[in-house]
Amino acid sequence: MPAAGPSGNPFRNRRMCDAAHDGMLITLRCNGCRRTLHFWAADLVKVVGEHHQVHLAPWPCSRCQTADFIDVSWTVPGAAMLTGLTVRRPVRKIERWLWRNEKA
Ligand SMILES: [Zn+2]
Repeated sequence: MPAAGPSGNPFRNRRMCDAAHDGMLITLRCNGCRRTLHFWAADLVKVVGEHHQVHLAPWPCSRCQTADFIDVSWTVPGAAMLTGLTVRRPVRKIERWLWRNEKA
């Protein structure tokens, strides 16, 4: 749990690479749709980059289309917490073509 609120100075806040190094589990709870998801910080580093500030939602809620309702928390999980816990893990990155209509 964060000892204090985030600083206005991004360099003083915990970064995703710090959380990954510490083996942290990041929990995103959306208070809009009341969905809670758990991620390994080590996985999120690959997606949002090393310098992403941990207290900021990595992406908007896919159901609510906004990050406004997302609470981010983080912890080094103990064995008891991990028992039976479902963690979202990246499977693979999908690339796809975007198309647009143009005058011939
Ligand atoms: Zn939501």
